[in-house]
Amino acid sequence: MKRLYPLFLGEACCDKEVISPGVSDGQRVHIPIAGYLVATDAGRRVLVDTGIHRSHIEDPDRTFGGTEFAAKLRPAMRLEDTVDARLAPLGLRAGDVTDVVNTHLHFDHAGNNDAFAGARFWVQRSHYQAALDNPAFPNQYWRIEGLHYELLDGETDLGDGISVFPTPGHAPGHQSVLVRLDSGLNLILCGDAIYEQDNLTHDAWEGHADPAQARESALLLVERGRRLGATLVYGHDARQWAQLRRSPAFYE
Ligand SMILES: [Zn+2]
Repeated sequence: MKRLYPLFLGEACCDKEVISPGVSDGQRVHIPIAGYLVATDAGRRVLVDTGIHRSHIEDPDRTFGGTEFAAKLRPAMRLEDTVDARLAPLGLRAGDVTDVVNTHLHFDHAGNNDAFAGARFWVQRSHYQAALDNPAFPNQYWRIEGLHYELLDGETDLGDGISVFPTPGHAPGHQSVLVRLDSGLNLILCGDAIYEQDNLTHDAWEGHADPAQARESALLLVERGRRLGATLVYGHDARQWAQLRRSPAFYE
């Protein structure tokens, strides 16, 4: 048996055009920042994405203050939004996490990698290489002595019904995660391959590094979801988050 716990790891206040350009430009929106824990009876605990670094509670501008990006997106994080605080009600600590999957290494997906020195990290090789020394992927949060990265080349079965597959476009070598639950429920954690439903509804992909490739990956995600009867969980969709179970509630 295994359980999937959606973890609410804070929010960011951002311009709508950052995530869905051309839909409601000029509007400010609050978007959720998410992680997902898959826990098996056998003691495997796989965390998908680690959220923004806990220092943003004190200083929301810690990462992008003074840059052009700071005005477009501002973290809003509370003490209860740390990974530690979200794991505690499950009787877990960061040291109990055996594996971390980073969909990609943006600061809101790899911000707390430093807390998981005992885990194996699963990242696509092409992504890892693109992120090295690249200020769009602040290296201080993930390029840390003692973290053990397993670099993947394409679709990979991680065992326990969990697999990853490349969905590039948001970033080179971005990956999404398929979780097959024992009930027959399949969830695809898209990461930022699809930010929110509006990307699909309005065919809006200009918020991604390579819009044409992002669109292609998104359409393949939709097709894969249809084929597997899987629910697509988007990266930062406030409306969808309001409908999801939230840890300590879970899917199984
Ligand atoms: Zn993101």
